[in-house]
Amino acid sequence: MRHELNQEQLLMHDSIKQQVMMIQQEPAHSFKEKWKAIAQTGIIGIAVDPSQGGLGLGAFDQLVAFEALGRASSDNGFNFALAAHTLACVIPISKYASSEQASTILASFLNGSNICANAMTESESGSSVYQLQTKAHLQNDNQYILNGSKTFISNGAIADYCLVYAETTANKGFFGGISAFLVPNNAYRCIQSYAKMGLESVDLSELLFEQSVVDVSCLLSKAGGGGFIFNESMEWERTCLAGLHIGAMERVMQQVIEFAKSRKSNGISISKYQAISHRIAEMQVLIDTSKTIAYSTARMLDKKLNVSRESSTTKLYVSEAVAKFMLEALHIFGASGYIKDYGIEQEVRDALAASIYSGTNDIQKNIISSNLGL
Ligand SMILES: Cc1cc2nc3c(=O)[nH]c(=O)nc-3n(C[C@H](O)[C@H](O)[C@H](O)COP(=O)(O)OP(=O)(O)OC[C@H]3O[C@@H](n4cnc5c(N)ncnc54)[C@H](O)[C@@H]3O)c2cc1C
Repeated sequence: MRHELNQEQLLMHDSIKQQVMMIQQEPAHSFKEKWKAIAQTGIIGIAVDPSQGGLGLGAFDQLVAFEALGRASSDNGFNFALAAHTLACVIPISKYASSEQASTILASFLNGSNICANAMTESESGSSVYQLQTKAHLQNDNQYILNGSKTFISNGAIADYCLVYAETTANKGFFGGISAFLVPNNAYRCIQSYAKMGLESVDLSELLFEQSVVDVSCLLSKAGGGGFIFNESMEWERTCLAGLHIGAMERVMQQVIEFAKSRKSNGISISKYQAISHRIAEMQVLIDTSKTIAYSTARMLDKKLNVSRESSTTKLYVSEAVAKFMLEALHIFGASGYIKDYGIEQEVRDALAASIYSGTNDIQKNIISSNLGL
């Protein structure tokens, strides 16, 4: 479906892919060095206005760029860490930052020198984000005091800043009662990092805000604006994260085809068995359908249309597609897929997270059905 891309988008896709491949070939980068090197491709600021140091493109280009990253790098945890920073932090901050926040903090996010985490989830408020226990109250008109904890936060332990959502006015609800704060990491503590089944390179942590003193200048947009900021950021994330999954499926598809052609059973390539070739054909349909849905939603985002239903549809479909795709790849590889040598078992473990983050797939179905008036 490269025909869907114009000349500039094709060039950007191939250029990011080549650069990421080269960065990975360089001798042993630390996580932060790799982050900085990949930031130099411009991938973090693709949809950020040039006046703030970005490339001034849009959601479609961001999606295509993540497709290139997923295609070039099998480090799905790293890819997810970078995409979470970009979609759930850089995008909302670029839209709502004060000029001071944009010229200092946002600039450091774009060039890769600082990393941001997005903190909404709490132990008692996962899917039910409308019931936050983290509170922020204004003190002396110039500072907020934050109390509460946030859990399952990507990049939590390594972030320089955290975009944290807290209740500022009780009984005003999610839209009006919640505010977003861009908080430096000396204002909170990481109290645990979780061991997890996949996405090895992304840190997933619990953060504690205990009488955290935060200057009013850390408020993003205005008090009470957090619910809108969060929802908008999730629409970007649900749409553009699909690029990583599409890229990963394309990368593994190449492995699958090579394996199916070279692996012989009864003296003939397994690709000649219809059980295998049909399976591969269906896997290609998963890629093509994922692209069709994600590209369409990203184009709607760029036209500033309401994508509440479409971004949830994209997230729901592509997360299920990538999990199904990787399991099918494992079956085609047989025992070679189950052992670690080919990386297929890792792809399965990584893919399973996609139905949980950015809101579980049940929650996406709730959003889709409520858009249908149910
Ligand atoms: C890899 C990874 C990265 C993450 N990164 C971040 C991050 O950076 N920042 C952040 O804030 N959070 C992050 N999360 C947390 C994620 O957003 C939550 O895990 C998710 O919203 C679900 O919350 P929960 O785990 O508490 O599950 P629960 O809400 O307890 O849900 C448990 C089960 O019940 C179902 N369920 C719950 N409520 C409903 C309902 N109303 N209708 C139908 N079904 C329902 C769910 O679908 C699920 O199957 C991350 C999670 C993962 C796995």
